Amino acid sequence: MSTFDPTDRLWLSPPDVGQAEREALVAAFDSGWIAPLGPDVNGFEADLAARCGVGHCAALSSGTAAIQLGLELLGVKAGDLVLAPSLTFVATVNPIGYLGAVPVLIDSEELTWGLDPALVDEELTRCAQLGSRVGAVISVDLLGQPADYDALEEICQRHSVPLLEDAAEALGATWRQRPAGSFGRLGVVSFNGNKIITTSGGGALLSDDKRMVERARFLATQARDPAPHYQHSTRGYNFRMSNLLAALGRAQLASLDGKVDARRAHFEAYRSALADIPGLTFMPEDPRGRSNRWLTCIQVDPSAAGFDPDTIRQALANEAIESRPLWKPMHLQPLYAGVRMVSGRISERLFERGLCLPSGSGMSAADRQRVIDAVRAVASR
Ligand SMILES: *Cc1c(COP(=O)(O)O)cnc(C)c1O
Repeated sequence: MSTFDPTDRLWLSPPDVGQAEREALVAAFDSGWIAPLGPDVNGFEADLAARCGVGHCAALSSGTAAIQLGLELLGVKAGDLVLAPSLTFVATVNPIGYLGAVPVLIDSEELTWGLDPALVDEELTRCAQLGSRVGAVISVDLLGQPADYDALEEICQRHSVPLLEDAAEALGATWRQRPAGSFGRLGVVSFNGNKIITTSGGGALLSDDKRMVERARFLATQARDPAPHYQHSTRGYNFRMSNLLAALGRAQLASLDGKVDARRAHFEAYRSALADIPGLTFMPEDPRGRSNRWLTCIQVDPSAAGFDPDTIRQALANEAIESRPLWKPMHLQPLYAGVRMVSGRISERLFERGLCLPSGSGMSAADRQRVIDAVRAVASR
């Protein structure tokens, strides 16, 4: 069938790095601060805290590690319940189990595709009535769209349950002018290879709580007590980011605004070129916030369109264009089959109809046009 050069393949969200990143990496190398820590880690933490509008930041080895450490710092213990959205990447929910806690999955709402605040409120009330301890609520800013923090912060405060914001996909987004990553007691961002900025792999924990972030740094470096020998009275982790990767991250962070603008421009171009196709709609944007449009996600209603999202996915694949279904909800995953799910109809429908289109900040307008042409070809069959 088709033979294509893999370098011609148009990826969903590849790293967008250039000369500035190369120079930062080489400069860190030449400085002698290779690993584990060094001035670029301190600098990256300061840059990130400033960018996200929080007092403190700990640079870590991944977003997943940051969520695990964050839950532990919030006091989540074995047997606790932790509420989380079902519609997310598995790395939001897995850390709950690392701590021996039990996830409770909550449906999304239509506008933000994030946690439905009314369901969170109901579930926290129900848990209180049953006497079940809830250790934390994790909220996710899906595809870069902040969840409804007007409601979620108020609800968590009223129930005295700490809120952790999984902003892994949302760096550069805002809610009422406040940066993603700054909501709740702790925020988490990710620098995985497909995220809006990358360190090839990494993450960070953000908070205004200085003691909590200092504790995060301590636990992330094997929890060494102050002593000349290796002494430990707590079980820690090896979760720190290396100085070389922090140097890469600082260079990436410097161009974050341009990367948000590029992704938002992709979204607008897709929408103006495709929105007239019957049955095809786009992820909404809550007017109280500003998404970073990490991925452009379309919704295809097969009964109105006459085709389903997988038909588009296959047609794009034939043109060497990568697209991907929206996250499959956790309550539909074999891994979480027995877990309590509160409602679920909205996340199921978003998943069934969803398809994410190539959205990388380095994608050219010509490449984007290839995607548009291929989708239009399906629609006019
Ligand atoms: C990418 C991602 C994570 C995990 O981040 P890693 O750095 O890959 O460990 C967590 N949550 C969400 C919503 C993500 O998209």
